[in-house]
Amino acid sequence: MADGTVSGADRDESGRRGASDHSDGGHGDDVRSGDNRSDDSDTDNGYSDNSNSDNGDNNDSSGGDDRQDYHDRGYGDGWEELRQQTLRRDNYACTRCGADDRTLQAHHIVPRSAGGPDELENLLTLCRPCHGVIHQHNNAFDDVRDDAPLFPERTAPDPVARLRTPADQCCTRCGAERSDPTELVAWTDVPASDDGRPAPSHVTLCKPCAGLLIERDSAVEKEVLTANHTISVHELAARRTDAPVRPSAFALSQVGIRREPRTLRERVVDDTPLRFLLNHRGIRLALLVAVGYVALFVVLAL
Ligand SMILES: [Zn+2]
Ligand SMILES: [Zn+2]
Repeated sequence: MADGTVSGADRDESGRRGASDHSDGGHGDDVRSGDNRSDDSDTDNGYSDNSNSDNGDNNDSSGGDDRQDYHDRGYGDGWEELRQQTLRRDNYACTRCGADDRTLQAHHIVPRSAGGPDELENLLTLCRPCHGVIHQHNNAFDDVRDDAPLFPERTAPDPVARLRTPADQCCTRCGAERSDPTELVAWTDVPASDDGRPAPSHVTLCKPCAGLLIERDSAVEKEVLTANHTISVHELAARRTDAPVRPSAFALSQVGIRREPRTLRERVVDDTPLRFLLNHRGIRLALLVAVGYVALFVVLAL
């Protein structure tokens, strides 16, 4: 029943995020704090809706049996009409990537399973690959997800303005998640690592870390960086001092660069193992250990 549990959790999460995105118009400045690689799996299934897994928003073709089909899935009689309205409003193009030559589907911003209504305001047109990007855990899209462009269009509405995979939204050097795609660039010309592992097709970097890479590696130029906006090498260079002094423990070797510390704190904390203790996780762990010791003394004293 592991599946059921997971899908339940996903639904809660998607409902909550979906609803908040719906009400506040998005996650523009919702930059999550650093070392949260482990959170990837649930931060990025925002709108996934596993109860719809095999049928949910998959309303692509307009063949003869569809009306009956939608009906069987709990879609009301007006669904086909509403779906057409959605596509018309979005000019028959995917709102994430702009494609107009692919199978287009209507996506529920707040999933139906989380109470999202069948209303135009709750629907966005997506091509099938981009639909799979938004529904990361829906294996019905596994065959097409990789066809979606890495970056959403600059004009993509917040609920669908995501990179192709959850890992793409994290900087491969510092591990920070950037939910705003304009804060990320992709390096497409990554060499193989020293230990002979094959080079990834691309890695994404936050702008400060990209600035650091450009500074270190003159082979990394604007031409091998992509984004959904014009990349300013000047901006990247100017922001490199915002990059953490040390790369995260998970950083790929190709991007595992250390930055020269500038301030006393950077020299004493950020560039030494003290950084593991003096962050919120380290402090929490230290507190936990302290409480554990006190508890142990109390127990032994009784
Ligand atoms: Zn698309
Ligand atoms: Zn970074």
